[in-house]
Amino acid sequence: MDIAVIGSNMVDLISYIERMPKEGETVEAPNFEMGCGGKGANQAVAAAKLGAKVTMLTKVGDDLFGDGTIKNLEHYGIDTEFVKKVPGSSSGVAPIFVDKESKNRIIIIKGANQYLSPEDIDQAATKLKKCSLIVLQLEIPLETIYYAIQFGYKNQIPVILNPAPASKDLDFNRILTCDYLMPNETELELLTGLPVQTEEQVQHAAKMLVDKGLKNVIVTLGQSGVLWMTRNHVQHIKAHKVQATDTTGAGDAFIGCFAHFITHNYTIENALKMATAFAALSVTKRGTQSSYPTTEDLKQFLK
Ligand code: ATP
Repeated sequence: MDIAVIGSNMVDLISYIERMPKEGETVEAPNFEMGCGGKGANQAVAAAKLGAKVTMLTKVGDDLFGDGTIKNLEHYGIDTEFVKKVPGSSSGVAPIFVDKESKNRIIIIKGANQYLSPEDIDQAATKLKKCSLIVLQLEIPLETIYYAIQFGYKNQIPVILNPAPASKDLDFNRILTCDYLMPNETELELLTGLPVQTEEQVQHAAKMLVDKGLKNVIVTLGQSGVLWMTRNHVQHIKAHKVQATDTTGAGDAFIGCFAHFITHNYTIENALKMATAFAALSVTKRGTQSSYPTTEDLKQFLK
């Protein structure tokens, strides 16, 4: 196995609307689509689409969405030995609204994702120890995340933490051993309590995290690209100019792709460049996982 994603799965219920409804108002959505998502599953699929060997630790409900999620992960060749069903729980569901300017609003119902526990990590320990990277996000309980970070540290397995969705409950002192912290601007703002309106402010906030001991802070900046900072290096990689149709899941695309290339001996800089291209391609199409390109698409784009 190359990558273990310990994280969430959701079923995305995507309504494409002209504009967001106001309070008390009902609007019609001309189009609706259903798709498998969740930050963990999206990142796992992004890496698997590029050919990474991925195992996923997650929990689904004992409902139709749960069966669909397992089938979907298997469709992408992801190992589902540690995808467990929680009796009596719903699966995770995410109603998503995308307006005609491609801006999105998302509601998360965590469902079975809330039951992924440190014991689940212990049960999967033998398999996890064979992985060369652990990838985490914040849609599962924080205790499980801290445990996974410790697990990675003890077993010398590098860890990516994508602190998303933004959470003010995250205990900074318990994430310091992560090799790669990958927030977007909103998450960076919440993590540091610092403003992030300008590039200088983003750099200042990222530096605060590096000064606290984080090795690599990688801030995704939407169409402005990405900022990578270490103790003695700072680099801004620009985004590709593309016609954005739907930016939902761009961050997950970016992280899954980065995870793939970093486990295939790319330098951080080159893995970030690949992820920038991969995520740009993903925003040109509707949907989340279905919008992620394949290795062939990526090659064509970079020609
Ligand atoms: P989401 O929550 O929608 O998944 P995010 O906020 O976590 O996204 P972003 O910073 O918006 O993540 O995007 C991740 C990466 O995707 C960016 O660093 C950039 O490389 C690429 N990207 C996003 N939007 C665009 C765009 N409009 N054009 C080109 N590239 C983009």
